[in-house]
Amino acid sequence: MINVAIDGPAGAGKSTIAKGVAKKLGFIYVDTGALYRTIALNAVRNNVIDSTEGIVNMLKDTDVSLGFKDGVQCVYLNGEDVSGLIRTPEISMGASKVSAIPEVRAFLLDLQRDIARKNDVIMDGRDIGTVVLPDAQCKIFLFASPEVRAKRRYKELIEKGEDVTYEDVLDDVNKRDYQDSHREIAPLKPTDESVMADTSKLTLDESIEYVINIIREKM
Ligand code: C5P
Repeated sequence: MINVAIDGPAGAGKSTIAKGVAKKLGFIYVDTGALYRTIALNAVRNNVIDSTEGIVNMLKDTDVSLGFKDGVQCVYLNGEDVSGLIRTPEISMGASKVSAIPEVRAFLLDLQRDIARKNDVIMDGRDIGTVVLPDAQCKIFLFASPEVRAKRRYKELIEKGEDVTYEDVLDDVNKRDYQDSHREIAPLKPTDESVMADTSKLTLDESIEYVINIIREKM
């Protein structure tokens, strides 16, 4: 199986780019952030988002699974398709919080590795190259400046009808970057073999071509 790991900060364009690349190469695209978001959604629903102990206890009653409809990933929480409920700013911050808990990361590890064992995948996250798929044939670290990333996120949220300001989004981007790269467990960082890819000045199509070229060179 071919495994491509794409890591990088929030808003670097990982999911949109990886989706486009997967489609062109006929791979399955796996968005691992959706898994952490689903845990956060369950924690919010159970009123335990501010308690590590509560979140850890909640895991024994939590079932998370992934499905693919026409190549598009859906995520299920105890059998319910929650894909449409996990893209709010509240759940973004919640995901960053739950993802710092070792028990949560361990809980989601097998699910991610299992998919990569059985399929050609392009998997996006924060620790795919370092922890989840250390043997991936190709590792890419995708990044862009915080301002460019905040601008992209802001546009996305406004288009979805969310009531946010650019300053709030930039603030969230910086906060999440800090949390994700300074946590003790599986912090966001490139590996020695990662190809560093800056998408600040590239359009979506250019970024997809760029990433496909990196993958072809590695294969
Ligand atoms: O990629 P996305 O923004 O959906 O991820 C939400 C949060 O989940 C991130 O801020 C990060 O804290 C966490 N995450 C993680 N490891 C991954 C994917 C996401 O810690 N592999």
